Amino acid sequence: MDIKRNVLLNPGPATTTDTVKLAQLVPDICPREREFGQIMRDFRKDILKTVHADPAVYTSVLFCGSGTINIDICLNSLLPENKRVLVINNGAYSARAVEVCRYYGLNFSELKYPVDERPDLSEIEEVLSRDPDIALVYTTHHETGTGLLNPIREIGEIVHRHEALFVVDTTSSLAMIPIDIQRDNIDFCMASAQKGIQGMAGLSFIIGKRELIEKSAEYPKRSYYCNLYLQYSFFEKTGEMHFTPPVQTVYAARQALSEYFAEGEQAKWERHQRVFSAIHRGLDRLGFQDVIRREWQSGLVVAVRYPNDPAWDFEKVHDYCYERGFTIYPGKIDSVNTFRLCALGAIDEQDIEDFFAVFTEGCKNLGVAIPVKY
Ligand SMILES: *Cc1c(COP(=O)(O)O)cnc(C)c1O
Repeated sequence: MDIKRNVLLNPGPATTTDTVKLAQLVPDICPREREFGQIMRDFRKDILKTVHADPAVYTSVLFCGSGTINIDICLNSLLPENKRVLVINNGAYSARAVEVCRYYGLNFSELKYPVDERPDLSEIEEVLSRDPDIALVYTTHHETGTGLLNPIREIGEIVHRHEALFVVDTTSSLAMIPIDIQRDNIDFCMASAQKGIQGMAGLSFIIGKRELIEKSAEYPKRSYYCNLYLQYSFFEKTGEMHFTPPVQTVYAARQALSEYFAEGEQAKWERHQRVFSAIHRGLDRLGFQDVIRREWQSGLVVAVRYPNDPAWDFEKVHDYCYERGFTIYPGKIDSVNTFRLCALGAIDEQDIEDFFAVFTEGCKNLGVAIPVKY
């Protein structure tokens, strides 16, 4: 089978290998069969290794849905009655968590920072000291909208000193940036199969402390479909998802995870950094400016300012690149016009060199001045 290879520079779903694509072509199977249950049991166990989680302390729970389902589940399931959530928000994904709190009518506070700033640790300390009702602190590890990486280990240390639970959205860092769940002071983290492990969209997972999930059995049930304890206990009792799993996506995820272990945590992280450097080299060559201070950038996403040139037209450059097999992505920052180039997925340095040849051609065809003007 010959499948066209596209280089996706959007922030996920990412470019996958052919072996992951083909892993979806399996005989039909009822997911309640033991054979399929074993695949999910193995996946639940193996995914723990991506964050070096000790299986005696941590477990994973799988869900059918895109990554946002994890945000929804953690917030609605892990908050005791009469307690409060604190969301540390410096980007679009933590803003999404704030919306989830609002939709569920949860009692919450928000510490809001500009999207190009890191959170103020002393302020977090102060808020937690002042408000003993905060039982759950939530933030995003890698803000995919800007490419900013948050200091979760330092935040988690403060959270734990105040005996709150620390939930981190690691959707766009897990299995890309090395994470050690214990050392990074994380109680719950999350991701979905189409991001770091380079699988297909539709399967998401939460990794967290088993004891805390069991404790949450007594917390208010705020959702029928999206409750962490209910899904966990069903898995523990039967080895299955409560409701229909995304069968073929699970096969692809299993293949993707085995390719992840074959490549290795460090080698994969080095590849992402190699791709990231190639993106910066290409942008520098053309004179493009980025938004986030270089030392705060994750190594995975670059948010690029639109040049100040009437000939610049993102949609047209996008279409030019898309027709030639490269996907670039709009920005997610309200205050400034940006587009994004991401180093996720099964791509390497050469793909970025090839991309910049096409991208430069696309800009020139539009009459955009090179180097670009600001
Ligand atoms: C991709 C992503 C998500 C999930 O987004 P979906 O569109 O639901 O897949 C959540 N958080 C972060 C940080 C992400 O990058």
